[in-house]
Amino acid sequence: MKCPICTSDTTAFVDQKPRITYHSCLSCGYIFKSPEHHHDFPAQKARYDLHENDPDDPGYRAYFQRFLDYVLPMVPVGGRALDFGCGASDLLASMLTEAGYTTDRYDPIYHPDSAYVSQSYDLIVSTEVFEHLDDPLTTLRHLRDRLTPTGYIALQTQFLPDTREAFLDWYYRLDPTHIGFFTPRTFAVMGKLLGLRVVGEEGVNKVVMA
Ligand SMILES: [Zn+2]
Repeated sequence: MKCPICTSDTTAFVDQKPRITYHSCLSCGYIFKSPEHHHDFPAQKARYDLHENDPDDPGYRAYFQRFLDYVLPMVPVGGRALDFGCGASDLLASMLTEAGYTTDRYDPIYHPDSAYVSQSYDLIVSTEVFEHLDDPLTTLRHLRDRLTPTGYIALQTQFLPDTREAFLDWYYRLDPTHIGFFTPRTFAVMGKLLGLRVVGEEGVNKVVMA
């Protein structure tokens, strides 16, 4: 199977216990589950409904604050922002509003307001979304096309561990709705394909592109 991001060859490996086949790109490092393990929207929603994201929980707010503390010093503050794939919560969007942005949010399941497609954004954030996508390059292109000429995209998704053994022990891949996993290099490759450059990447789970 070819890598859906950079079209390079991949190598397949199987997790024996749940018998999940993964494909690992030999070039950009992207690892994705075989398409038969992808879920349709109702199955995904059932899983997402289990996420207890209470906006009054100080831990949940602190979690988004760590994301914004990394991202906001890199981007011009003010202007228009989009939280793409916000889930059921408006917490990150409201924190962006507090930080000085006029903020929209979109989620295909919980907030399917597609008015954002006719807007341009100075900042698009998307946290814990890209690991759910079966075609991340197309989604990133879609987001790029919603940017102002000086706009930024800031993403959060856990970067892959270094070894196959560590991957197989990794909690993050066990969520059945997580189907694609990235290295910083995967984002650099996607950026190159889309005319975006990586302006920040902290090696754990955050990347900023412009
Ligand atoms: Zn690739």
